[in-house]
Amino acid sequence: MLAASLNHLDLFVLKGLPGVTITPHWVMGADAVGIVDGTDDLVVVNPGISDGTCEYCLRGEQSLCVRFRLLGEHMPGTIAEYIVVPERNVARIPRDTPIPEAAAFTLSTLTAWRMLVTRAQLRPEEHVLIQGIGGGVALAALQIARQAGAHTWVTSSSDDKLARARQLGADETINYRTTDVAREIRARTGKRGVDVVVDSVGEATWASSLGALGKFGRLVTCGATSGAMVMTDARRLFWNQWTILGSTMGNDQEFAAVAGELREGRLLPPVDSVFDISQGRDAFARLESGAQFGKIVIRVGK
Ligand SMILES: [Zn+2]
Repeated sequence: MLAASLNHLDLFVLKGLPGVTITPHWVMGADAVGIVDGTDDLVVVNPGISDGTCEYCLRGEQSLCVRFRLLGEHMPGTIAEYIVVPERNVARIPRDTPIPEAAAFTLSTLTAWRMLVTRAQLRPEEHVLIQGIGGGVALAALQIARQAGAHTWVTSSSDDKLARARQLGADETINYRTTDVAREIRARTGKRGVDVVVDSVGEATWASSLGALGKFGRLVTCGATSGAMVMTDARRLFWNQWTILGSTMGNDQEFAAVAGELREGRLLPPVDSVFDISQGRDAFARLESGAQFGKIVIRVGK
């Protein structure tokens, strides 16, 4: 391994997830970049390990595998000198790819890709709202949406993060601490609302996500960092003919697609900070603080 990066998932694992038993010394981390031992091949790692034999694997939907396991959660992770994964869980990238960005790439980009491209089927010119810009999935979603030619809206409680999102090309920014997001979007779109919402925040944003969603809109969720129990008014759901889509990580085909983007130098993730492995604790503290804009990387090798 050369470097690994942190995901919010790592904090959940550290604090204890129902049904997941980790025993010290546990190796954390899901994302990674490294060199295949005995070769010169630089590779990124897809942390989702599937059995390849169940009903969903046979349909090509590896992230729905009934025996799905994730590096760092169900098996030892990537913040290590060496890891062993199936060959189909790595993808070769050019040797001159920047290491922190490569380490930070896979899980966020794969997750956002499946959400927007496969599940929501985002089309050019559509309006997409991305809640909570600054996290890895939200930033990857912003880049994918821009590349698709969509009109992008982002929210944050931090004006600084919104300014940085504008530098990355976000068309419209809203501070949700000072502004009613749904009302503001209704006002700026002549009451129409947006076509797609990317929500990985959950309880704190669900109401504003639905409030911003226009007729025939799609809300796609991959996480609930602020809490999991959300309320949906069924009358508004059927009357507006909304679609609520769940999405998690990605299948092998989507992994190949995002690795292709990385090989072309596209969708490189913003990196917030790089820590040496000896400062691993500080890296987790930075993640927990929520102050980061982009990914937190831990350098393992030289
Ligand atoms: Zn399977």
